[in-house]
Amino acid sequence: MSAFRLGATAVEGKLQGNSGMVPSTRVLSPNHKEEATANGGRAPRPSALRPKQYPAGKPRKRAPFWQAAVFASVALHVALLLHNYVVVNQPVATAPPRHEHHQACLMQPDSAASGGNSRAATAQAPSTGKPAVTPASVINLDHGDPTMFEAFWRETGDAAEIVIPGWQTMSYFSDVTNVCWFLEPGFDHEVRRLHRLVGNAAVDEGYHVLVGTGSTQLFMAALYALSPPGAGEPMSVVSTAPYYSSYPAVTDFLQSGLFRWAGDANSFTGDSYIELVCSPNNPDGSIREAVLASESGKAVHDLAYYWPQYTPITKRFDHDIMLFTVSKSTGHAGTRIGWALVKDRAIAQKMTKFIELNTIGVSKDSQLRAAKVLKAVSDGYEVAAGAKGAHRLFDFGRRKMVERWSMLREAAAASGIFSLPEETSGYCNFAGEMAATNPAFAWLRCDREDVDDCATFLRGHKILTRSGSQFGADPRYVRVSMLDRDDAYDIFIKRLASLK
Ligand code: PMP
Repeated sequence: MSAFRLGATAVEGKLQGNSGMVPSTRVLSPNHKEEATANGGRAPRPSALRPKQYPAGKPRKRAPFWQAAVFASVALHVALLLHNYVVVNQPVATAPPRHEHHQACLMQPDSAASGGNSRAATAQAPSTGKPAVTPASVINLDHGDPTMFEAFWRETGDAAEIVIPGWQTMSYFSDVTNVCWFLEPGFDHEVRRLHRLVGNAAVDEGYHVLVGTGSTQLFMAALYALSPPGAGEPMSVVSTAPYYSSYPAVTDFLQSGLFRWAGDANSFTGDSYIELVCSPNNPDGSIREAVLASESGKAVHDLAYYWPQYTPITKRFDHDIMLFTVSKSTGHAGTRIGWALVKDRAIAQKMTKFIELNTIGVSKDSQLRAAKVLKAVSDGYEVAAGAKGAHRLFDFGRRKMVERWSMLREAAAASGIFSLPEETSGYCNFAGEMAATNPAFAWLRCDREDVDDCATFLRGHKILTRSGSQFGADPRYVRVSMLDRDDAYDIFIKRLASLK
């Protein structure tokens, strides 16, 4: 009890001392009698949100006719909207053009995205919640949904399972002595353990581990932490083109006065900037380093794909801010957990502050699941080292990626109208041998003279990809996800090979 009180006091001190934006230990009660408010006070609930109280014993007045008519009209509109949303068998050619800007809804349900999927949408693949794929299906490789990894995790049994009793993970707080007070110690432990095993990033020497709702939230937190308030003008955020399409979209989404998207790092002039370095790069798989260097410039290294299934681990990186995510390392995109390794304590504090104000921490349930998944990965190499039948994620991932890239190169050659980036290789310290790069996305160029928009061309053949224009590049390029399930990937390969 006293330990709890001590903890709560420390957190209150920490939060309130730092502008006091988060409620102490008061929580939302189911009947909303008392609410956590942004300033920790008890802000009166706007009357429109207050449930209406009717005096006991008095009958409620019946709604007049015009109210019933308005209600019926609204219901009709909602029904029509829903109807349009679920209709799945409209031909691809008549589907509305896709928004040229980064898709606000990255993860459109397949029924909405795959216009030509016919009635196949009603036949569900077992327990995946996704439509079964048939040779006539629209193949959606627009977003990098990492469902390829399901096949691996189906085999791991209880090694990657968790049970959370009803009373657990209820508090906002995890470890109030940590800079990142909502970081579950078990997750922190497994993150550091996995990096030590793989050798891809430094985690000792004072690095802080921060957890985020996906690395996307940590990316936003980094922008906030690296942009000083009152600088006069917004900090410029840049990245070498082709850059990950979310960078400009997320940077400018809220039109912040602190930072703004300033485009390709190669054409940037100035001393103050935040350079986003993604390596291996999304979309083209290239190995990248920062291209700008100035005293006041800052870099954020997005290492989402710096794992042995995608690239040889040639170096243990020790950058100031490094971002990782379970979405791409283990394939658990839906768990929405990412982490940052941050050298500087003050920056780590500011990033934590961002997450505190944004979502008051990160789901503990998800952290526990992510910790168990990372543990299963490390155990596959450490505990079960040499054991027959051990489940080794990176071996599975590499095998799959090598196979898929070889299929893709063959299909592109058979077609004759596409080109792909050259394969590169290096010595992988983790695998202890030479290994090729097998990027999570194919950066595919359509070489046909009469095609100047490859995404539209492929869309006409029921293959959905993301246009190069969304990455600050030529629309003759598209980004194709290499991480979908086998059935979808196989159909994609057959279709691509047949295009002339
Ligand atoms: N960085 C890069 C380079 C990515 O490709 C992605 C996912 N597409 C992310 C970050 C975001 O990952 P998360 O799911 O953890 O938000």
